[in-house]
Amino acid sequence: MKITIIGTGYVGLVTGACLAELGNDVFCLDVDQKKIDLLNNGGIPIHEPGLEEVVARNRAAGRIQFSTDVAASVAHGEVQFIAVGTPPDEDGSADLQYVLAAARNIGKHMTGFKVIVDKSTVPVGTGDRVKTALREELAARGVDAGFSVVSNPEFLKEGAAVEDFMRPDRIVIGHDSSAEGLQAAALMKKLYAPFNRNHERTFWMDVRSAEFTKYAANAMLATRISFMNELANLADRVGVDIEAVRHGIGSDPRIGHSFLYAGAGYGGSCFPKDVQALERTARQYQQDLLILRAVEAVNDKQKLVLGRKVVQRFGADLAGKHFAIWGLAFKPNTDDMREAPARVLVRQLLDAGATVAVYDPVAMTEAQRVLALDLSAEELARVRFAASAMDTLDGAEALVIVTEWKAFRAPDFDRIKAALKQAVIFDGRNLFEPEVMAQAGFEYHGIGRSILT
Ligand code: NAD
Repeated sequence: MKITIIGTGYVGLVTGACLAELGNDVFCLDVDQKKIDLLNNGGIPIHEPGLEEVVARNRAAGRIQFSTDVAASVAHGEVQFIAVGTPPDEDGSADLQYVLAAARNIGKHMTGFKVIVDKSTVPVGTGDRVKTALREELAARGVDAGFSVVSNPEFLKEGAAVEDFMRPDRIVIGHDSSAEGLQAAALMKKLYAPFNRNHERTFWMDVRSAEFTKYAANAMLATRISFMNELANLADRVGVDIEAVRHGIGSDPRIGHSFLYAGAGYGGSCFPKDVQALERTARQYQQDLLILRAVEAVNDKQKLVLGRKVVQRFGADLAGKHFAIWGLAFKPNTDDMREAPARVLVRQLLDAGATVAVYDPVAMTEAQRVLALDLSAEELARVRFAASAMDTLDGAEALVIVTEWKAFRAPDFDRIKAALKQAVIFDGRNLFEPEVMAQAGFEYHGIGRSILT
C-alpha cells in the first residue's frame, strides 16, 4: 500500500520504517529540513535499537523516502498518518497546532479519497477537529473529495520501539460507521493484516474511545509508578523492603509484575504530558481527576528524592563536594532527556553548591544540549561530562545512579570503592541488593529499601 507519514520523529520514523519493512511504499514528510537531510544522507536523528538497520534496508530497497514536499506527500499515500508532536500547552492541555496544520496541508492538496489517521496522542474530540479543518480547506478550494478520519494511537515504548511496533500487544483503531468510515476501516484492516496473522490483536471502536484509550493506558501506567513510589517512601520510614513487597503483590495475577518498580520518578515525553492533558480534558467537562492529580504531585516530589537523600547524608551545604552521576536519559536505551529525573538531581546538587561528573551510555550529546538550556554558564562549569561510567568516580563523595542502563547492573565494585572518596551509593533504580552491597563494604541507599535490622 502507499502510505504517507506526516512527522518523522520517534513515532513517525518508527511507523514509517516498520510499515516499509512489511512491503509498503512509504513517504515520510517533515517540516524540519535538517532532519530530512540527515535521513537522506543515511543518518538517524534518534537513538532507537534496530531502527538504523530497518531504515537502511528499506531505503536501499526503495520502499521509504524522506522529504519536505507537502504536495508530493499528499499525492503519495491513500492512507495519511499524522504523527506530529502534541506538546503540552501552557495550561497543560495538548497543543494541537501541529496536528491541525498537518490536516490543513492534506486538505489543501488532496484530490481524491484519503484516509487520515491520527497516530499522535490527541484528546477526545480531536478527530472531529481534524475533520472540520479538512472540510474547510476542501470548501475553500471548491473540491469535493471524500475522506475519513481514523484514530490509531501508538503504544510503542522508546528504547524498544521497533520491537513494539513489529510485535504489538494490541492495535487500537477508532473509526465511524459512515460509508467512508467503513471504507477506511477496510484499508486499515488490510494495512495491519500482517500483525494479526497468529491471532487478532486489533480492537475496533469509535474514534473518541480510541483517542481516550491512549490516555487511559498512560495514566494507568503512571499511576502504578506513583503508587509504588509513595509506598516506597513509607517503606523507608517503617523499615520495609519495597522490593520484597513488589514481588509479594506482583505475583497476584490481578496485579501483575509490570510497572511496579519504585524509583526516582517517571519522565519522558509521554507520561507527564498525557497525565496533564487528561486532567485538563476532565476540567473542561467540570470534573476533577483526583487520582491523576495525586499521581502527578507524587511524581514531582519523587524526582527530588535522590537529591534529598544526598543532602540528608552529606548536609545541606555541598560546597567543595563532588558527586558522580550514572544515567541521564529518562530511561534506558534512549537518548531522550525530556522531563528526565537526572535533570532535577543535577539542579539540586548544583543548587546546594556541589560539583558533579555525569555519564550516560548514549545521551551525552543530548545531555550537553539540554543541560546548557537548564543551567547558567557558572552552573554548567560545575558539570563534567565524563568519558565513561568509571571516569565519573574520581574524587566523588558518592555515586548516584539515576537510569537503569544494563551496563550499570554489574559494575566493578572494587574499582568503584577505590575511586570514590567514600564508599556510598545512592541507587535511584534499586539495581542492587542492600545485603550484597553491605558485604561489599558500601553504604547503600536504595528507594524504599531501608530495612530495620
Ligand atoms: P517528535 O517530536 O519526536 O516528532 C514530531 C515530528 O513532527 C518532528 O520531527 C516535527 O518536525 C514534525 N512536524 C511538526 N509539524 C509538522 C507538520 N505540519 N508536517 C510535518 N512534520 C511536522 O514526536 P514523537 O515523540 O514522535 O511524538 C509524536 C506523537 O506521538 C505525540 O503525540 C506523542 O505523544 C505520541 N507518542 C509518542 C511516543 C513516544 O514514545 N515518543 C509513544 C506513543 C505516542
